[in-house]
Amino acid sequence: MTADLLERCKTCTACALAQTRQHVVISRGDPAACVMLIGEAPGAQEDAEGVPFVGRSGRALDQLLKDVGFSPEADLYICNAVKCRPPSNRRPKKGELAACRPLLELQIDQVDPAVIVLTGATAVEAILGIKGGMTQLRGQWQSWRGRMVMPIFHPAYLLRNPSKATGAPLDLTRRDLAAVRRLLCER
Ligand code: URA
Repeated sequence: MTADLLERCKTCTACALAQTRQHVVISRGDPAACVMLIGEAPGAQEDAEGVPFVGRSGRALDQLLKDVGFSPEADLYICNAVKCRPPSNRRPKKGELAACRPLLELQIDQVDPAVIVLTGATAVEAILGIKGGMTQLRGQWQSWRGRMVMPIFHPAYLLRNPSKATGAPLDLTRRDLAAVRRLLCER
């Protein structure tokens, strides 16, 4: 990520979330990774630390990635559709997603990932513009501006649905991430 883009992110006041944030939460992982994972928005812990996916959801996400053989720090670039925490962890509003989108697009251009993983309905809507049930969308390869896109359940949803049964959301998410890994191995 260029110093210029980093500075633009850190000083952004494009929406009202700038007034209540502690940190602009930009990314973690490798800026040259083949896989870019986009979540919804920072929560309280991410806002306090300035790093995405470091709370409970983040730990669940890291475990799933490791389960299928990914190193979260070395194999992925992890960020969010919105870089500032929405108060009380509400979903980002349409206008907030739109305000953040130009910086997200620059981030995507600079990382230039082969695959984008979208976790949860907000990220899917933010990038693909599809409003739909994740139960239908997850696991279905999509294409966006020449990049392969894999929608998966959000880790917060998986924490609310912890069944380890075959065919349960956790199992399906592992399968979806394994499909991403297979695609990268076959390239
Ligand atoms: N933490 C993040 O950084 N993003 C999410 O979508 C959820 C938790």
